[in-house]
Amino acid sequence: MVIKIGKSDDNDFVVNDPHVSRHHARLIREEEGCWLLEDANSTNGTFVNDCQILKKRITPTDKIRLGDSYIVVLSDILKFNNDYSEEFAKLKKIYDDYIQAKVKIQSSNQFKTRLFQSLPFALTGVVGVIIGFLGKGNPELLMISLFVTVCAPTIGIYLGAKQSSKIPQQLQDIANQFKIDYVCPKCGTFLGEIPWESLKNRKQCPVSTCKAKWVSN
Ligand SMILES: [Zn+2]
Repeated sequence: MVIKIGKSDDNDFVVNDPHVSRHHARLIREEEGCWLLEDANSTNGTFVNDCQILKKRITPTDKIRLGDSYIVVLSDILKFNNDYSEEFAKLKKIYDDYIQAKVKIQSSNQFKTRLFQSLPFALTGVVGVIIGFLGKGNPELLMISLFVTVCAPTIGIYLGAKQSSKIPQQLQDIANQFKIDYVCPKCGTFLGEIPWESLKNRKQCPVSTCKAKWVSN
């Protein structure tokens, strides 16, 4: 991919400045998102961080000067060209983190729910053994044993239900945050719970008015 920069209308990035040549410079995309800035025999020269260059690999924060005074940064040129590949790449982490958090909440919750539901049954068993040790025929112990046998599982089911009702709230919270973060870098449209890799295959935003390119050619 080559982005032509200059005053002439046939450039990809048109600059209206008296000291910029008609065809002033070129940005050439190399592999892995690196950009090479090349002067196109301009009259007033191309500068990167105030050093004149003929050809130089640049980073997004480098200050590009065309001629005497026109200053621009790489990300502005790319955005003008609807290239949002750099911002789009960052969404991968957001998607992965969200899925991980979701699975973590669900599995830890399942464990707690089971624990609360099974613990009272275990407790009943222990009490039964103790009563057996203390001797049969004691009506008070029998009452306690009955009470525990009836109540413990009820409490267990209650606690288990209470625990499982916590899931939707926690999941809702992370889902809400996900809706804010997992959006098209240009138009801000929520991308749904679609895996990042699938979006990458689409190469650009599905919103017809947006035209943001997610993957550079
Ligand atoms: Zn978009």
